[in-house]
Amino acid sequence: MGPHLQGMQHVSLRDYQAKIVSEVYSHIRAGRRRILVQSPVGSGKTRTAARFVHDGLSRALNILFAAHRKELVTQPRDTFAAFDMRAGIVKAGFDFEPDLPLQIASVQTLVGKLDAITTPNLIILDEAHHATAGMWAAILAEYPDAIVIGLSGTPERADGTGLSDIFEVMVEGPSIPWLIERGYLVDCDVFGAPDRLILSKPRGSDYDPSKIIKALERKGRDGDPLVRFQAQHKPGKRGVGFGPSVEFCEHQAERFQSAGFKAFCLSAATPDDDRDAILAGYETGDTDFVWNVDVIGEGTDIPDLEILIDCAKTMSIVRYIQRAGRILRPADGKICGIYEDLVGNVAEHGHPCIARKFSLQGSAGRVKASEVTEDGEHLSTRQCNTCFQHYPTAPVCKYCGADNGPDKRISKERAAEIRKLEKEELAAAKKEAAKVRLDEERACGSLQELQALGTRRGYAPGWAFKRWKTMGGRPKPAGPKFGLDGWPT
Ligand SMILES: [Zn+2]
Repeated sequence: MGPHLQGMQHVSLRDYQAKIVSEVYSHIRAGRRRILVQSPVGSGKTRTAARFVHDGLSRALNILFAAHRKELVTQPRDTFAAFDMRAGIVKAGFDFEPDLPLQIASVQTLVGKLDAITTPNLIILDEAHHATAGMWAAILAEYPDAIVIGLSGTPERADGTGLSDIFEVMVEGPSIPWLIERGYLVDCDVFGAPDRLILSKPRGSDYDPSKIIKALERKGRDGDPLVRFQAQHKPGKRGVGFGPSVEFCEHQAERFQSAGFKAFCLSAATPDDDRDAILAGYETGDTDFVWNVDVIGEGTDIPDLEILIDCAKTMSIVRYIQRAGRILRPADGKICGIYEDLVGNVAEHGHPCIARKFSLQGSAGRVKASEVTEDGEHLSTRQCNTCFQHYPTAPVCKYCGADNGPDKRISKERAAEIRKLEKEELAAAKKEAAKVRLDEERACGSLQELQALGTRRGYAPGWAFKRWKTMGGRPKPAGPKFGLDGWPT
C-alpha cells in the first residue's frame, strides 16, 4: 500500500449502487474498456465513483476524474476526501500535485495538459453526455489503454444522438420511480399555466429566448414567476428559477428582491467566490431563491430546494431532467418538490418522475410513438382543467378531484393507424363509386340515355358522345352474364 492510501476509508454503497459497480466490473473482466453508467440525477453517482476510485487506488492504479465544468471539480474532491482519498486538482488556482495517483481535472483544462499528469489507467468521466467526439479523440489518443467509466443521468447529447461513438456498453441504474418508492428521491407536483405556451419548433438548437420572454409577457399573471412563487412559497422553502436569458434572470431576481425575498442571479460571469457564497446561503438562510440560465442545471449538489420555476422552454430532455433533479433530493420535512412549469416543458417531455429508458443510440430508441401525441405531448400525464396541475392520466385529477373526463388525446402511433385506415376506406369508397358509375353507363341502351345521364351528373355536353364511342357505339348487353361454362353467373 502506497503512502497515499493509508487510512483510506471503505466506501459503503446502497444496494443499487453496489449492483452498478459489480456490473461494471464484470464488463471489465469481459474485456470491455469503455463503459457508461446511466443512473438518475440524485442517485449518488459521485459516491459510486468514489468506490471505483477506492478500488482503483487499492490496486495502485493512476486515476483521472474528469468533470466537464471547472466548478464541478471541488465537489468530487470533497466527496473523495471524506474517505481519506486525496486528489490533486488540475485547474488554475490550485497547486499542481502530479505525484498523487488521483487527479481531478476539468476537461477544458485537461485537453491542454494531457502530458502533464501521469498516464491514467482509469478515467472516470462525470456528466458524460457532454463528451464531444473531438475532445474524446484528443484524450483517447493520449491515453489509449485507459479504462473509461462514464457517468450520466441523461446519456444523450443536445441533438438527441447517443454516446455509442465513445462507449461500448451501458450499465443501467434504477429508475426515478424506483428511487422515489424507496425514499432515495422525493416525488414532485407539477403546476402548469392555464394555457399552453405555444411556440413553434425552433430552427436552431433550441427555442429562441426572446420569443419565450414575449410569450410569457403575453400570458400576464399566468406567466409571472413572482406571482407563482408567492403562491407556492412558505417560510424556509427555497427555490430555483431557470430563465431563457441572463437579462431575464437579473430582472426577475430584482423583482423577487423587491417583493422581500433573498433572491440572486447566477450566470457564467458570476465570480466563483460570489457563486459559492450565494449557494452556501441556501444552507444558512441567506438565500431564498436563485435565478440562472443553466449554471446550476446539473452537478450542483443542493439538497433542500423545493420549488422550481421553469421559464426556459427547451427541446433538450437532458436540460429538462437535470433541472428537475434539483428538487427531487430528499431532505428533512420535505414531502415533495414543486415544479412550476410556465412554459410547457412537462407537456413536451413528460412528468419529471416517469421511468425513462436510455440507450447508447440516443433519443431514437427512447421515445415510443405509442407514448406521445403527434404534437410531442407525453400521454403519461395530463393537465387538470381546474387546478392546472399535471397528474397521471385518469379522468379524475388526483390533486383537486375535478373530473376532466376521458383523455381525448391519441398517440402518434394511433394517429398514424387512423390515417392509414381512413386512406384505405377512402380508396375503397372511391372504387365502389367508380363501379356504380360504370354500371349506370353500361345500362344506357342509347346515346340519348347516355346524354341524359351526363346532364344529371352535370358533365360537359360532349361527354356522352365520347363515352358512346369508347363503349363501341352500343350498350353492353344488360341482363344475366354468362360464365365460361355457359351458365348465368
Ligand atoms: Zn385538478
